[in-house]
Amino acid sequence: MSDRTGRPQPVRAGCRRPFAPDPVRPARAVGLTADLLEAAARALLQAEDRLGVLDTAIGDGDHGRNMARGARAVAGIARDVVERPLPEALHRLGMTVVNSVGGAAGPLYGSCLLAMAQAAETEAPGRPIDPPMLARLWAAGVEAVKRRGRSDVGAKTMLDVLVPALAALSASPRLTAEAVRAAAEAGLAGTGPMRATKGRAAYLGDRSVGHLDPGAASAALIIERVIDAVEAGR
Ligand code: ADP
Ligand code: MG
Repeated sequence: MSDRTGRPQPVRAGCRRPFAPDPVRPARAVGLTADLLEAAARALLQAEDRLGVLDTAIGDGDHGRNMARGARAVAGIARDVVERPLPEALHRLGMTVVNSVGGAAGPLYGSCLLAMAQAAETEAPGRPIDPPMLARLWAAGVEAVKRRGRSDVGAKTMLDVLVPALAALSASPRLTAEAVRAAAEAGLAGTGPMRATKGRAAYLGDRSVGHLDPGAASAALIIERVIDAVEAGR
């Protein structure tokens, strides 16, 4: 410990907060690994064409390209960002997504990560991300997407995957990875028969029926990688 002059100060007994981060070496974002970020980025890059095709059917065709741009930007900072404390790491990821993805999805996924960063401030620094903590952060992210998009489930958007997958995660204190994956997959499939009421697809009205929502497809991909990582980290 040191004062502004850099002189070391004595540490008084009982004055240290139990979870005070080390000022020199901040607590790492335990559980948020470069492997996870790179795996999510790879999955989005591999799915670029498929997401583009989905968005061509009911939007303007750019969702694959938008997410691929974000994936490259996130992969580029992955090694660095996971060395930072979790709130800072999530904040940097959010800003990177906002600045790289564009379209409607950029501000929505970006707001999600920025709200998760804010929620992470209330967690003990350096605490590993276990399923209940993931559920708390995710809930804050989902609320931010709803606010930003003035939207909710049933509008044929990414929320139709994010919300049921969160519900599956929150339903049990133990991670039921299969249940979360199944909820995400069912949520994505459920966007097929929906009529879009938000986003570009809403302009199509009834003609949006019969197509999967591209943002729901990218959300399912990301969730798949996040759940893989939490499962592997247990
Ligand atoms: P754009 O629609 O500007 O071309 P993208 O193609 O990158 O942006 O993203 C489209 C996706 O964003 C949609 O498939 C949908 O999941 C999501 N989206 C659009 N508007 C909203 C909204 N108001 N609320 C939630 N999600 C939305
Ligand atoms: Mg688009």
